[in-house]
Amino acid sequence: MVERAMALGREAESMIRALALISAEEGHLTRLYLTPEHRLAADLVRRWMEEAGLEVSEDALGIVRGRLAPKADGRNAVQRLLIGSHIDTVIDAGAYDGTLGVIAGILAVREVVKKHGRLPFGIDVLAFGDEEGSRFPATLLCSQAVAGRFDPSTLEVESVDGVRLEDALRLYGKDPSQIPAAAYEAGEAAAYVELHIEQGPVLEQAGQALGVVTAIASQSRHSVTVVGEAGHAGTVPMNLRHDALAAAAEITLAVEDLARRNADDFMVATIGKMSLSPGASNVIPARVVFTVDLRSQTDARRIDAMNWLREEILAIARRRKVTAWIERTHEAEARPCDPALQAGFARAIGGEGKAIHLPSGAGHDGQAVGMLCPIGMLFVRCRGGISHNPAEFAAVRDMGQAIAALIKFIENFDPSALAR
Ligand SMILES: [Zn+2]
Repeated sequence: MVERAMALGREAESMIRALALISAEEGHLTRLYLTPEHRLAADLVRRWMEEAGLEVSEDALGIVRGRLAPKADGRNAVQRLLIGSHIDTVIDAGAYDGTLGVIAGILAVREVVKKHGRLPFGIDVLAFGDEEGSRFPATLLCSQAVAGRFDPSTLEVESVDGVRLEDALRLYGKDPSQIPAAAYEAGEAAAYVELHIEQGPVLEQAGQALGVVTAIASQSRHSVTVVGEAGHAGTVPMNLRHDALAAAAEITLAVEDLARRNADDFMVATIGKMSLSPGASNVIPARVVFTVDLRSQTDARRIDAMNWLREEILAIARRRKVTAWIERTHEAEARPCDPALQAGFARAIGGEGKAIHLPSGAGHDGQAVGMLCPIGMLFVRCRGGISHNPAEFAAVRDMGQAIAALIKFIENFDPSALAR
């Protein structure tokens, strides 16, 4: 059994290496949505799916879909288990983010077919094209379409290389009017599961290869502007200053403290971008604009936290005699993983009591597919918690164990046990 898992891990590794060679730049991995590299990767994935015995199709957004039909007499004949992840990457990416989930799905279904033939339910393995949002200012387009939630106004968005999404789709050989056909019908999708590298250090610190995901974090992004008054660095006394940066610094510490106080809800807060003007060594800063990225496992805690922060920013601004305001730029609701799917993964990795459970602070396709059906995720340890970086790495042994767990999960999957 252990040997079999190792062999699957080695096979996954060689497939991940093959996909990593398909890149826009030599020596770095960059594979953006609807590019020639996406086409080559999709063709390779299609070949692997066909070799695994799946019937392959591609929809109007370029999602590659490998389908295993259910047993003809299966009681849940219309229901399918969806297994997916993405084959696009960030710029100068690691090799495992997304691709591991697609490859694990293909290998697991191949093994299940070898052992059992068809199952009472159908299985679709999905290779999404645009989870990262690296080319277009939109993410989860493919998974939204699968959930029947594609917003047609998105066709107008322009890529970083100046191409409208609609034109890019046509250049890729697709007909955007057919996008609605990518959606599953109500009741057709029993569940969506995804295997993904953790992209964080929790499993490594816990000494565990695998972990069951409890929820995909709820997320707020805001832009904060603080306006004070510019002045001569040598002549304006400290008590007469309206220093926008000093106020922004106090807000920064308040943001950090807020997340630390809510650590029990896995809250994390980051100020990742800040600009100040005029920006000279001998001038008091007059204006500072910065971002706040705040994530939490539950929506209620995140909303409470943002309300508190809004008040705190105004209080700091009043005290320091500057003005400040905050605007929301992005919001995503938490997507809890289904308890029955969590239990299924926990059993598959060796016991409900033993398995480590953790939330995902990063966004995933399941956020969108969760609008269609229950979702579940299994995380695989990655070295140093490093991701979105060429140093990204998952061990063959861990990947093998993950695929073996996915096989067990599929073998024990029962669509009728899920709350609809
Ligand atoms: Zn990913």
